[in-house]
This record gives sequence, structure tokens and C-alpha cells, in this order.
Amino acid sequence: MAEKKLGWAIVGLGEFATKQLIPSFPLCKKSKLVALVSGDPAKAQRIAAENGVDPKNIYNYQNYDSLRDNPEVDVIYIVLPNSMHAEYTIRGAQAGKHIMCEKPMATTVEDCEKMIAACQKAGRKLMIAYRAQYEPYNLKAIELAQGGQLGKLKVITADHGRILDPAKPQDKWRAEKKLAGGGSLMDIGIYSLQAARYITGEEPVEISAMLHSTPHDPRFKEVEENVNFVLRFPSGVQANCTSSYGYSDTKRFQVFGSEKVLTLDPATDYYEHHLSLSGKEGKQEMKIKEENQFALEIDHLSECIQQNKNPKTPGEEGLQDVKLMMAIYESARKGKPVVIKN
Ligand code: NAD
Repeated sequence: MAEKKLGWAIVGLGEFATKQLIPSFPLCKKSKLVALVSGDPAKAQRIAAENGVDPKNIYNYQNYDSLRDNPEVDVIYIVLPNSMHAEYTIRGAQAGKHIMCEKPMATTVEDCEKMIAACQKAGRKLMIAYRAQYEPYNLKAIELAQGGQLGKLKVITADHGRILDPAKPQDKWRAEKKLAGGGSLMDIGIYSLQAARYITGEEPVEISAMLHSTPHDPRFKEVEENVNFVLRFPSGVQANCTSSYGYSDTKRFQVFGSEKVLTLDPATDYYEHHLSLSGKEGKQEMKIKEENQFALEIDHLSECIQQNKNPKTPGEEGLQDVKLMMAIYESARKGKPVVIKN
């Protein structure tokens, strides 16, 4: 008999939740959308009606904790501004629910640790929504890099950029340090950092970084525009990463091996990735079946709950990135490399 689908509640009906996550639920095999949490009742009612969510399962930020009394909800997915992730994760775990939390996990190391502790105490799973680690092109790139098909890995470059536009509601809070925690690094540079870590399968031992924001640009009064950082890994691989709110739509990485160079561009888009290998024999495009990465990651957590397994990207994975991002900021502030103790 097919296992029952787990019930999911989405918290925060913003750009990403409404355009990417909610439309992916019909593709899920183990998960269904059953509840919404929003500060805007009219919007929540409209989205509930469009997606077959029972209007009695609409909550707001005040009655959020009463999700505890709703047995239809197994998992809460936090899709709020970054600095709100900790509070809603902790309250969600205390309400007895499993948690999926968007990246970055939180804006401080202390908040990440509190989130992990709260989920452990409640005996609930915590997963960070690192969608690229469930996306088939990225998985292929990991397999090729770690399987030796590129020869010995030497260097990785990873670049993530987009133009911050505070005229858009989703970019307003991104320009505020209190809500975003930081600038382009916390938002998209985290994909460059993640790529360097999952491609090598290693943790960096040293980080050097530089920051620059265009002087007098009001968008960068509180958060940084550009971050360039270099990660040194134990094997000797070095990753050159960039992150920017000043150059447009870039989401790519390259892996340079002694035999071949792998290019994934775009690497971390929502759809339509392009993977190629180049070497002595020329350039070879690799086509893989595209799959909806949001449905894959959502179902991964449901499966982990059903089978009592640890998620592949648990809270500890989110904590590690936040620790490393703090080291990136520290290196830039001090103007010297920071040694990482793992
Ligand atoms: P958004 O602004 O469109 O959505 C945020 C939602 O939170 C809105 O519905 C807003 O009304 C609500 N909210 C509640 N309290 C708020 C407050 N005090 N201030 C501002 N908004 C408040 O933003 P988004 O782009 O959907 O991002 C939400 C989260 O999802 C962020 O953590 C972001 O990093 C993450 N995200 C992840 C991906 C990905 O590919 N994994 C992509 C985009 C965003």
C-alpha cells in the first residue's frame, strides 16, 4: 500500500513560496500542501482556494503556535526573511512539527545552534532547503568531480550575482541588515560557498575575503554589495568565489581538474541547467533529465520522517555555512586570512 503523504504548512507567502514552492507540491509523491501561515488573510485565502488548501488551515503569525493542535500538519516550511528563520523554527518545533527552513539557516551562529537544540529537544527533524543538493545536474557534477573523471581537482570558481532592486518587495528586506543578516553573501554567495563544499566534499581550512560596496549607493548602506572569497581545502583545492548584488543574473561554477574542466552554467537556477566537460578531445555537452528540484527536496524530508532517517542537509549543514560566512566577513574586516578549525 502506498504510504500516506505527509501534510506541509508553508510559512510566508512571498515571491519564492508562491512562484516556486507551492506550484511544486502537485509533483510531490510523499508530501502535500495542507496549511498556510501568512499576515495577509486575503492573499492566504486566494492561495488556499487555488491550491486546494482547506480555509480552516489558514494561520497567521499570532496563532501560529496553534498548529500544534492540527494533526493534518506534519512539517512546517519556513520561507520568511532570514532573521525570522530562528524564531519560527523554534516555535514550530515546540509545536511538535518537523521543520524545513530556507537558506541561510539564520543570521548568527547562536541562532543556528538554538534551532538545532530546539528540534533535538522536540525530537523533530530539521532540514535546510539547499535545493541544489537535490538537483540532478548538481548531483552529476559532484559524481564527476569526486569520481575522478576530471583528474585531480585543482581549482573551483563559483559566481553568483543579481541586481538588488529595492523597488521589489522581496528586495526591500534584503537591504536591511536586521532582517537579511548581511548582503549578497548571505543571500546568493552562499550558493558559491555551498558549491565549493559539495563539489570537493571537503571543509575549508582557511578563508581570505574582500568586500566592496559602491560608495553612496543607498542600497548598500546596511548590507554589502560584493564579496570575493578564496577557500583553501585540505586536499589543496582552492575555490575562488564571488557574490554580488551589482552584476546581473549569474549562477555558475567551474571545476578545473588535471584532465578536464567541468562547467555548470547556470548551475543553481530553478530550471534549464547546462553542463559541459572540456579536455583534450574538445567540449562535450551533457544532457540529463531535468527534474523539479523543489519537489525532490520536499519529498526528501518527508521520506526521512517516514523512515526515521537524517536529512542529507540537516541543521548542522546550515550552521557550517553560517560559521564560514562569519569567517568570510571576519577575514574581510581584518584584511587577512582566517584559519578555520573544523
Ligand atoms: P519575500 O519578501 O518575497 O517573502 C517573504 C515573506 O515573508 C513575505 O510574504 C512577507 O510578507 C513575509 N514577512 C513576514 N514578516 C515579515 C517582515 N517582518 N518583513 C518582511 N517580510 C515579512 O522573500 P523571498 O524572496 O520569498 O525569500 C524568503 C526566504 O526564502 C528567504 O530566506 C530567502 O533567502 C529564501 N529564498 C530561497 C530561494 C531558494 O532558491 N532556495 C530563493 C528565494 C528566496
